[in-house]
Amino acid sequence: MKFNTKTIHGNQKHDPSTGAVMPPIYQTSTYAQKSPGDHKGFEYSRTGNPTRHTLENAFASIENGSYGLAFGSGLAAIDAVIKLLQPGDEVIATNDLYGGTYRLFTQIFEKYGIIFHFVGLDNTTVISEKINKNTKLIWVETPTNPMLNIVDITSVVAIAKQHSILVAVDNTFATPYLQQPLDLGADIVMHSATKYLGGHSDVVMGALVVKDKGLADKLYFIQNASGAVCGPMDSFLVLRGLKTLHVRMQRHCENGAEVAHFLASHPKVEKVFWPGFESHPNHHIAKKQMNDFGGMVSFSTKGNRKEDAIKVVENLKLFTLAESLGGVESLCGHPATMTHASIPKAAREKTGVTDSLIRLSTGIEAISDLIEDLNQALAKI
Ligand SMILES: *Cc1c(COP(=O)(O)O)cnc(C)c1O
Repeated sequence: MKFNTKTIHGNQKHDPSTGAVMPPIYQTSTYAQKSPGDHKGFEYSRTGNPTRHTLENAFASIENGSYGLAFGSGLAAIDAVIKLLQPGDEVIATNDLYGGTYRLFTQIFEKYGIIFHFVGLDNTTVISEKINKNTKLIWVETPTNPMLNIVDITSVVAIAKQHSILVAVDNTFATPYLQQPLDLGADIVMHSATKYLGGHSDVVMGALVVKDKGLADKLYFIQNASGAVCGPMDSFLVLRGLKTLHVRMQRHCENGAEVAHFLASHPKVEKVFWPGFESHPNHHIAKKQMNDFGGMVSFSTKGNRKEDAIKVVENLKLFTLAESLGGVESLCGHPATMTHASIPKAAREKTGVTDSLIRLSTGIEAISDLIEDLNQALAKI
């Protein structure tokens, strides 16, 4: 089955009890048992819920995995992965991580004795230098947020496999429309389903997909034991979102490309970060591992003044100034003061998140309207 069919039909059946084409929202916490332990596969909705179960199967299908798990947020999904580890275990992670992931690693899990190394994963020799007998996991984010650097998943997997280290890929920015990390050898794919998978900025949710049964069992145990699950209504909404993922992504990519080229030719723009440019340092890897370049575009203004960047985001009208990304509507953000404010300034600037950097999530509106909006906002500086 091709991807565009999987988003609609993958691992999905009509409701067995009524034939409902769309999965019912099983808004229930518990399930009747005939006799103790004699039930229809569901006991309690933290452990399993039919609407969530349908969604988890759909996640597995679109990521070419065998097992899917849905969580109450993207961070809850990451939290479950790190709970596979023991005190003393070490993790190597991308250095320009999503701010919330960095905060979870450094402010929660370091307290419990897990050690994190943040390195530029595009340089594979740096990875080898950090590996020792305690290294258990490599955490990859590609494209990265908000610099849109690209990590070569195949090369990371090749190094990790020599040392039996797990590889997890945060596939939030790319979505399986653009790249399938499990096919490239990764062990775990993670999503903030809040973003493109849900796609309508109306749900907060996380997802994990794996191929290996043993790994799936450990994660299901953590999902149930820690309990950060999502509700049936949210599961329904994300299932509905998934069905149009491929058509939405196609337009996000088209609009992203147009916006990137427009900005690159604008006199008030210093630099545009978008993996589709041949001048992008990892363009060749993006071309190899992705089907297109996505809808995320970051740029800095000439002179690198924070006031200018703030003026632009305040004046944009169609691009709403808001946290988050991946919805049908265009959004803009100022990472230094918003998504990445929890990263210390020195560490932030080292990865390129300067004071004038603006991140755009291009929506699926008419491209001429988006360009006009950017043009009038840039005219204000
Ligand atoms: C938003 C985001 C997360 C966190 O997901 P939540 O659903 O907000 O908890 C993790 N990684 C990336 C790349 C994100 O954009």
